[in-house]
Amino acid sequence: MKPRGSEKADEVLRFLNDSFDMDKKIGRGLSREEDSVRRQVLMEYPALGRSPRVKEIAEALDMEEKKVKALLKSLDSKDVLYLDPTGEIRGAYPFKEQSDYEVLLKDAGKVYAMCAVDALGIPYMLDKDAAITSKCTYCGREIRIKVENKEVTRHNGDIVVWAGKTCCSFKAATSVCHTLNFFCSREHAEKWRNEEKQEGWALTLPEALYVGKKLFGDALK
Ligand SMILES: [Zn+2]
Repeated sequence: MKPRGSEKADEVLRFLNDSFDMDKKIGRGLSREEDSVRRQVLMEYPALGRSPRVKEIAEALDMEEKKVKALLKSLDSKDVLYLDPTGEIRGAYPFKEQSDYEVLLKDAGKVYAMCAVDALGIPYMLDKDAAITSKCTYCGREIRIKVENKEVTRHNGDIVVWAGKTCCSFKAATSVCHTLNFFCSREHAEKWRNEEKQEGWALTLPEALYVGKKLFGDALK
């Protein structure tokens, strides 16, 4: 199963690009120093299996901790990543310290994604095979997706990704990410959508792969 674009998938991309500054999340429009910190953070997630600490970034980039802290704060203000009150990283698109979106990478560690679309984008961003484990937001059934050579080679059930039309907050992590979810079937996506009174799009797995690849495929290029 390969990524497959569609009118619906393009509408989702337009909505995300218009509502949240997705270009900044992959480095466009950042200063050189900001982008070098952003790249270092994204590369360290798979190596460490968690968010890198300020100290670790400073050592890797041979930069003063004070300087790293200031750059991280600036990246936080641009919603490229987000920090806890002590100034340490809690998430950097597409990664999160911990979540219900587990991505086990081949020849690397386990990482967690911010949402379903981010999880599907990670194998494209890192150019690595991955086994994604999550759960249906409606019934809790386990969702398993294997991505090898940039294609889904195995998955369980008729997986649907709901892309909610949620905005109204500058930070994607605390708004739209909660409505980019996996479901075990179209029926469960519809039931949840009705109960939650959600507006948005139900994407097939190939369409959701396309969106994930478009958003994060070039984040480290
Ligand atoms: Zn379900």
